[in-house]
This record gives sequence, C-alpha cells and structure tokens, in this order.
Amino acid sequence: MVDRLANSEANSKRIAVVESCFGTAGQPLAIPGRVLIGEGVLTKLCRKKPKARQFFLFNDILVYGNIVIQKKKYNKQHIIPLESVTIDTVADEGDLRNGWLIKTPTKSFAVYAATATEKSEWMSHINKCVSDLLEKSGKAPSGEHAAVWVPDSEASVCMRCQKVKFTPVSRRHHCRKCGFVVCGPCSEKKFLLPSQSSKPVRVCEFCYEQLSTGATLPPRSNSYSRQPCSTNVSDDDDEDDSSD
Ligand SMILES: [Zn+2]
Ligand SMILES: [Zn+2]
Repeated sequence: MVDRLANSEANSKRIAVVESCFGTAGQPLAIPGRVLIGEGVLTKLCRKKPKARQFFLFNDILVYGNIVIQKKKYNKQHIIPLESVTIDTVADEGDLRNGWLIKTPTKSFAVYAATATEKSEWMSHINKCVSDLLEKSGKAPSGEHAAVWVPDSEASVCMRCQKVKFTPVSRRHHCRKCGFVVCGPCSEKKFLLPSQSSKPVRVCEFCYEQLSTGATLPPRSNSYSRQPCSTNVSDDDDEDDSSD
C-alpha cells in the first residue's frame, strides 16, 4: 500500500497540506518516495507538563509541532529520522494512559494517545516504517538513545545528593546522560556526548565520573527510564531549551 501511494496525487496533496500548515516555520517535506502514513494529536510529556502536539508519520520521518489552529496552522516543527528511532511501551499510570517512548540518539520522550487502539496503531505503524527502512538500508537498529528526562515535578530535591531542595533560586537542571533532575553543584561539569551535541553538555557528578574514567557500565543501568513502570519522562522541549 505504501509503495502504491508513493507517487499518487492524493499523497502529494496531503503532504502539501502539511507543508502549508507549518508555513515558513517548517522545512519542505515533499521528496520523491516520501509517503504520509498517518497523523493525529498526541500528548507529549514535556519538562513541565503534558502538552498536545500534532504528529505526522511519514515512511521515513516523524514530524511534530505545536498546534496554533487545529488542522490549519502548526509551528515549532521537529523532524525525527525514523531510522534512528526505537519505541517502547509505557505502563498506564494515573491520567497518563496509552503511552509509549520515542527514543532517538539526540532526544527521547514519552507520548500518549487518546485510546488503546490509537496507541497500538501508532506503535505498529512506526515499527513497520522503521523495520522497512532498516531492511532497505541494511543498517542495524539504533542501539544508543538519549536519556529520557525526569519531569521537573517528579523531583523536589536533587536526585543525586538528595539534599538540595529546589526553589525559584536553587534551580533544577537535567543531566544529559542519565536524565535525572539535579542541583547546580551536582551538575557543574560538562562532557562531550557527540550524539547529542557538538559541544560538551551538562552531566551530573556521577555520570561525569563514569564517563571520564571510561567505566563500562551495563547500558543505561543508572537510568531512570529503565525502571519498568516509569511513565514520568520528558525532554527539553521547545521553550525549555535554554533553561537546563
Ligand atoms: Zn545535588
Ligand atoms: Zn547523570
């Protein structure tokens, strides 16, 4: 079905509509062979709280943006190459239901669909696109992914020293390696994580030690996202980029 649609007029029109909804806030999306598989509103767990975002699944990229006017205008476009994506289901917890993690080498976050059916459709379509892409390119699935950030609200004290209480003055920071919410003194150092940035990024004291001594931990053994029931995950979304 995907291949049949690839050159159809309907597909080109749908992609042109997505492009026009982003306007100048977006990249050109029409390239030969690209197919729009599906679209919909998902709740993205951001650093401060869950927010509605419009998502578009293409056969090679996942695109999302803020909703200015539903079905008419979107901005803050993000484009994620599907080749590097892995997804993981997230257990329901409280109001956060029907969720899964979207993990990439540069950023990882949780999204939630309105129903269990929608969730399983999204997940199976994403998985199908990723496996088709990998099959075509002969590449291996992405092994490494960025830490899923613990939301600010999950931590009232530093998750490393367990002493510093967060206040408007004593601000929260996120370790780029483990995703923990940590205090300033516990995250004074930076380390080069090439998959996330060309410049050294903020890491906590613990991760700095691990990284700089080259200690080989089992992958992500120190990661919050590894806890099976954790749904409380986030990333540096949009407006949060400057305040880590
Ligand atoms: Zn601390
Ligand atoms: Zn850390």
